[in-house]
Amino acid sequence: MIIAIDGPAGAGKSTVARCVAKELGFVYLDTGAMYRALTLKALDKNINLRDVESLVQMCKNTKLDISNNQDGSIKILLDGEDVSRRIRLPQVTQYVSDIAKIRGVRKEMLKLQRSIGLVNNSLVDGRDIGTVVFPNADRKFYIDAEFNQRVKRRFKELQEADSQITLKEVEFDLKNRDHIDSTRSCAPLRKADDALCIDTTNMTIAEVVKKILDEVR
Ligand code: C5P
Repeated sequence: MIIAIDGPAGAGKSTVARCVAKELGFVYLDTGAMYRALTLKALDKNINLRDVESLVQMCKNTKLDISNNQDGSIKILLDGEDVSRRIRLPQVTQYVSDIAKIRGVRKEMLKLQRSIGLVNNSLVDGRDIGTVVFPNADRKFYIDAEFNQRVKRRFKELQEADSQITLKEVEFDLKNRDHIDSTRSCAPLRKADDALCIDTTNMTIAEVVKKILDEVR
């Protein structure tokens, strides 16, 4: 069985997805972590982020291994190195959408995502899961929230790791990623026609988790 969860950053997707997957005993596949790992590699290797050809080549020569920790969180190995923490660095967040908009990069990730999803009961979250990666998913959800609420949530989350971060920076990042992710020509962020939309603006994580579990069961 495949459950697809899409939506913009800060809507509560990953936390909800992790909890639902754990509850159901499904594999949780965080596809954003894959694009983040590629971005980290490009930055580490000083590849010009406008050099599409080199980025696609890098992608073809990269080995990504994704698994779940006991608590349901994601463990990601980039060419054998555990980068689960480093993929959350602000610099990676800043550039990830520029890498994720490249068609050749998405093509490689699509193959990998399908190969993982098809052998397990999986809960897959991202931006194009219900529309492109698994258009025949058993259940599809689109999780959204008002922009200001998303900014507040991300800010609170990021502040725990970096006390220097400002609300303005978070607001800029979300606006920038929303724009690139939803306007790119290849697999833009969009609600699948058959996805159930959940507006989480006034909901707690537990309420969203329950709503999805009720739907799935
Ligand atoms: O989910 P997360 O915020 O970690 O995703 C980081 C970025 O990865 C997104 O802003 C988007 O650019 C990209 N992404 C994507 N397609 C997916 C998942 C993530 O383009 N399926």
